[in-house]
Amino acid sequence: MSFFKFDSEIEKMSETALKKVKPVFEKIDEITEYNQQKVLSSFRNNNVSESCLGETTGYGYGDKGRDALESTFAEAVGAESALVRHTLTCGTHTLTVALFGLLRPGDIMLSATGTPYDTILPTIGTAGEGGRGSLIDFGVKYKETALREDGSPDVDALIKALKKEKIKLVYIQRSRGYSLRPSLSVKKIDEIVRAVRENSDAVVMVDNCYGEFVEKEEPTDVGADIIAGSLIKNPGGGIAKNGGYIAGKKKLVELCSYRMTTPGLGAEVGASLGHTREMFMGLFNAPHVTGEALKTAAYTAALFEEMGFVSSPRFDEDRHDIIEAIKLKNSENLIAFCRGLQSGAPVDSFVVPEPWDMPGYDSKVIMAAGTFTLGSSIELSGDAPLREPFAVWMQGGLNFHSAKVAVNFAAEAVKIQNSK
Ligand SMILES: *Cc1c(COP(=O)(O)O)cnc(C)c1O
Repeated sequence: MSFFKFDSEIEKMSETALKKVKPVFEKIDEITEYNQQKVLSSFRNNNVSESCLGETTGYGYGDKGRDALESTFAEAVGAESALVRHTLTCGTHTLTVALFGLLRPGDIMLSATGTPYDTILPTIGTAGEGGRGSLIDFGVKYKETALREDGSPDVDALIKALKKEKIKLVYIQRSRGYSLRPSLSVKKIDEIVRAVRENSDAVVMVDNCYGEFVEKEEPTDVGADIIAGSLIKNPGGGIAKNGGYIAGKKKLVELCSYRMTTPGLGAEVGASLGHTREMFMGLFNAPHVTGEALKTAAYTAALFEEMGFVSSPRFDEDRHDIIEAIKLKNSENLIAFCRGLQSGAPVDSFVVPEPWDMPGYDSKVIMAAGTFTLGSSIELSGDAPLREPFAVWMQGGLNFHSAKVAVNFAAEAVKIQNSK
């Protein structure tokens, strides 16, 4: 079997890496099987039928498929109720709908995991673009407790803040995003939820992006009030063409629905326009595809550790999201990695990525993505700002067998770059 031939040293290191990740893969398979059965069970319990897969148009009143999708999704993530809509255009939009749905003028929002993901900052209004209708423009106050030195949330500081004044909403980001802080385990989120419950009646909201189906439990299983995320990441299974979800306590999801459409209409409207089948199929595949992405991450870590680079998480570390960061020491290696990875993509394999001045970044950024869905990051993709710590953030992989080829291309390109 040799459709692809790699440098013999890379082939050897790949074999070693595969041996090393074997027990890791077994653990991933165990979680995948659990979550796959959880999802199948949700489909059965909600009587998903062929007639749920059709489309509605116009207002979309009484859309049986949409309602079944939302109740199935809710059960799969341990929530009372959910909104799962293609009209939620991306993760940022979805989180924004939830925040505006839950917060009112004068309320205080407190981030317990330091500064949130970049794209949320204009929503909050701390990014310096006043007048656009951010939360701060509408009189919501924003505070945050900084992460500890080791990147973990400072629960003591959170408790102090909760005791000091009335906080309406505590915001938690599960994934590391594009930082090197560790991702949050559901166990850690559980600890934060308990601390909040003991010291206030604040709503706990979790940005669940990249975390879905990575563990056996979701934040909603351990008492988080509301979670939200994107369908072109884990829970869309690489099949949903776009969309987002909000899940959690029934009353809170309902409040979000009034922001998603109007205070008079809520979740009752929203034509599915034929997207329901793909969102169902995506949810059905999501645990398996998330497992493939996790295998790709663990293998990449192991291979690049063999090559002498530092990976985060390390190949056998516990994972709470699908992101892998590899520190590649310099810009040339980052460029080589992204070009190699791109050359192993199913779509646009012939494209050569170039570093560019991305708005909002203080350095050039290079990206690799050869995806069926534009911007999908459950499909194999990588981003690297060309500055300290010279790390590439890689995520996704619809199936390990082909993602492995792309990662080997990346490894080979880095090796060639280093022998120059
Ligand atoms: C991806 C992501 C978002 C935003 O999602 P978009 O779909 O890119 O708008 C928010 N938070 C985290 C942690 C993410 O990973």
